[in-house]
Parts: sequence; structure tokens; C-alpha cells
Amino acid sequence: MREVVIIGGGISGLAALTELDRAGIRCTLIEVKDRVGGSLRSEVVGGFCIDHGVMFTTDRLDAPFISALNLQDAAYVPRHDADDSYLAFRGGMQTLIDRLSESLSRHSVMFRMAVSSIGRMDTRRFAICMENGMVLDTSAILVATPARYAERIFYTLRPEMSFRLLDYRYDSIARVSLGYHLADLPDLPADPPADYPLTYLHVTDHPERVPPDHCLIQLGVRYERQKGLPIDLVGEIAALMDWPPDPVFDHISVWPESDPIMWLDEAHAKNIEILSHLLPDGIAIANSDYVTARPTLQNRIESGQQAAQRILKHLNHQRN
Ligand SMILES: Cc1cc2nc3c(=O)[nH]c(=O)nc-3n(C[C@H](O)[C@H](O)[C@H](O)COP(=O)(O)OP(=O)(O)OC[C@H]3O[C@@H](n4cnc5c(N)ncnc54)[C@H](O)[C@@H]3O)c2cc1C
Repeated sequence: MREVVIIGGGISGLAALTELDRAGIRCTLIEVKDRVGGSLRSEVVGGFCIDHGVMFTTDRLDAPFISALNLQDAAYVPRHDADDSYLAFRGGMQTLIDRLSESLSRHSVMFRMAVSSIGRMDTRRFAICMENGMVLDTSAILVATPARYAERIFYTLRPEMSFRLLDYRYDSIARVSLGYHLADLPDLPADPPADYPLTYLHVTDHPERVPPDHCLIQLGVRYERQKGLPIDLVGEIAALMDWPPDPVFDHISVWPESDPIMWLDEAHAKNIEILSHLLPDGIAIANSDYVTARPTLQNRIESGQQAAQRILKHLNHQRN
């Protein structure tokens, strides 16, 4: 029988895995995609290192996870405010995922497998039902998926939880990456106008991220899911910002359900508290959808660590 199954290999699931690994627990990680990282992913395309999802966060360089994971040399402050409370990685967010994945080889990982539901096998074992019909048994389960997937996963075991996970809402964001020759951009780009649904800009000419004499501009475009994105999004942005219409490189990553916006709701914290009381022993949840404080990487990592601690408590209790 498996000791612990973690469902979802985003930052929260990986943080939980790292914590359980430290305690000597062997885990099985089930991830529906063919890679870990969830909405944190970077890739080098045409010599430009782009972030497909998150590009920087509201963490500080002295956040505990930076030193715990030995990331001091990899992180930097991408834009300055009074608290220097923005953080990015020279090699993109993938740097963090790679560091959190270092213990993966000691565990069993099942990629391209989706969990459809969980239930009880007997008083000591849970059943994990996969979409391909496979059933696994385990002593404990850590669900590290966004609420919109957890809602289905919990439906058989705890319908009361599913109802509380039903009405989650998410921002729809397109991450646009544009590469320019520095000579074609006389002024460093400024922030976008407030009345256009562009989120922050991130500009870098760091040699690890761009070819020589080039820069990478990354920005987010908030859009309505029903309407979709404009056909010539890159042309529209270039015209709006007064940039040349023909970047040497462009890429758009579309996230119809990106950031949970529930943490802005007053009732959210109460909902999370009720959810935690509804959780059966032996099951924990971890994900940014259940974070009630300011959404930072530190909070997401702590969400995974706390869920792992709950699982460890359960395993210790079962053994004694
Ligand atoms: C475009 C974009 C921009 C963002 N910008 C910011 C930002 O500026 N600042 C910030 O703080 N945050 C930002 N976020 C949010 C941040 O990326 C997420 O909150 C965080 O990465 C979520 O991590 P997670 O591990 O909690 O969940 P996820 O990354 O969603 O990971 C969950 C994993 O579970 C897997 N999974 C789901 N269902 C199943 C199933 N049934 N079976 C098996 N596996 C399953 C998924 O494939 C995924 O890998 C942004 C997100 C996006 C997409």
C-alpha cells in the first residue's frame, strides 16, 4: 500500500513533497500534465527565457523560502517600491520549480494521469480513482489542485466540501512576451495606461534571459473569457505603448483560469476555515486557492508544508 499520494505537482504539491521527503516518507505524486510546476513554467524560445505563467510575485528577497532553498543568487528585485516587495528569478520561475523538484527522484511520479475522485476502502485506507479506471490505495492523501478540480475529487467522499469549492472565480490572463533589439526601443518601457487591461510590465536585458543587445518585455493582459483575446493582440499593445510593431520575437500564453480572485472576498477566510473542519483525518489540502493571506510564493509553499505536517501527524497517530 502507498503511504501518501499527492495529487497535483504545482508549487504547493512540490512544497508538500519536499517536506514529506525530509521526514523520510515515500510519496506517489500524480500529475495530469507531463511536467511539474503547474502555472509556474519558463522556457527558452528563440534565445529568450520567457515565463509562461507567473513572471514575478510580491515576495521579498529575504522571504524564508529563498534561503531555505538556497536561491539567493538566483533571485532579484524586478521592480522597486518602498518595501522592495517584488521578486523574480534570473532563470525564470522554472528555477524555483527545479529546486523544489530535486527530491522527486526518490518518489514515484505518475504523469499524464488525472484523479477523478477519492473515497474510502476501509477504516485505514483511502481509494484513489483515476480517470483511466485505475484504482490505488493509500494511507493518506494530499490534494494540491486548484479548487475547481478539488470540487470533483471530493464529491464522493465529502459532498459538503465540494459545495464550498463550487463558486471559485478566476482571472483570465494572457502572458505576452515580446523580444526587441535594444536599438529599436529608445526608451525603457513605462507602465501601461491604467484604463487598458494590461497588468504590470517586466523588462529584462539580463544576459541569462536574452540574446546580446536585446531585451524581453513581459506583460499580462486581463481579458473576458467569453470574448476571448483580440486577433492582433501584439499589434494593439505595440501601438498603445508606442513600441515598434514588429518585435524580433513574440509569444502569447493563454490562461483562461489563472489567479484565484477569491482571496479578495470577505467570506473567503471563513469558507477556508469551514473547509479545514470538514477534512477527514488522513486528508489534507494545499493550493493557492486556499491561501487567505497576501498571495505570495512564500504563502503557497507554506500551504504545502502545513498540509504535509497534517499528513505526518496522521501517519504518526496510525503507527502508535
Ligand atoms: C498567467 C498567470 C499569472 C500569475 N501571476 C501571478 C503573480 O504575479 N503573482 C502571484 O503571486 N501569483 C500569480 N499567479 C498565480 C500563481 O501562479 C498560482 O497561484 C500558483 O502557481 C498556484 O500554484 P499551486 O501549486 O497552488 O497550483 P497549480 O500551479 O495550479 O498546480 C496544480 C497542479 O495540479 C494538477 N492537477 C489539477 N487537477 C488534477 C487532477 N485531477 N489530477 C492530477 N493532477 C491535477 C495541475 O495540472 C497542476 O500542475 C499567476 C498565475 C497565472 C496563470
